[in-house]
Amino acid sequence: MIIAVDGPTASGKGTIAKRLAEHFGVPHLDTGLLYRAVGRQVALNGGDADTEADALAACDFPDELMHDPVLRSEETGGLASRVSVHPAVRAALFERQRAFATQPGGAVLDGRDIGTVIAPDAEVKLFITASVQERARRRWLEMTQAHIGREDEIPLAEIEKDIVRRDARDINRADAPLKAAPDAMVIDTTNFGKQEAFEAVLDAVKERLGLA
Ligand code: C5P
Repeated sequence: MIIAVDGPTASGKGTIAKRLAEHFGVPHLDTGLLYRAVGRQVALNGGDADTEADALAACDFPDELMHDPVLRSEETGGLASRVSVHPAVRAALFERQRAFATQPGGAVLDGRDIGTVIAPDAEVKLFITASVQERARRRWLEMTQAHIGREDEIPLAEIEKDIVRRDARDINRADAPLKAAPDAMVIDTTNFGKQEAFEAVLDAVKERLGLA
């Protein structure tokens, strides 16, 4: 059983995917981490994230990099968003994701193109979304609680602008743009807390699997 969880940044898809994997007892892959590792490796190589050859060379990142907390930073997120527009990068990361998705026993993957490109054959496809304002608010809370990167106050308006910029890059790229698969269940979590969002998703998934 493959469960594909797609959606924009800070929509809550990562937490939902992780909890679904725990619930069903299957492994989970946060595919954004692969793009983040490539973005980070470009920087380590002294390369340019906007140059396809530099980004492709960075796909050879060492496995340990996947566990580096720096991957979670806003700066690495920005680099990930830039390297992910290159078709050669997407192609280089395809097999790894596909192998994870098709492992015996099933898997949960979250990202931007899981239901459309990586696992169009997934039994369950979810597209998790929320308003830009709400996603910015969640990211702001996360950042201020964790003090990631900056000591000074983080302006909410700046985070909102960054989210709009990343959405535009993900939605408008030619290769594997962010969009809901035609057969995806679209769930808007704007007015839900974490627990409510998970319960709504779990109900939808159970119904889709005929377990409700
Ligand atoms: O989900 P996360 O914010 O970690 O992803 C970082 C960036 O990687 C996204 O902004 C997106 O551009 C890219 N990405 C992608 N396809 C995926 C997962 C992430 O293009 N399946």
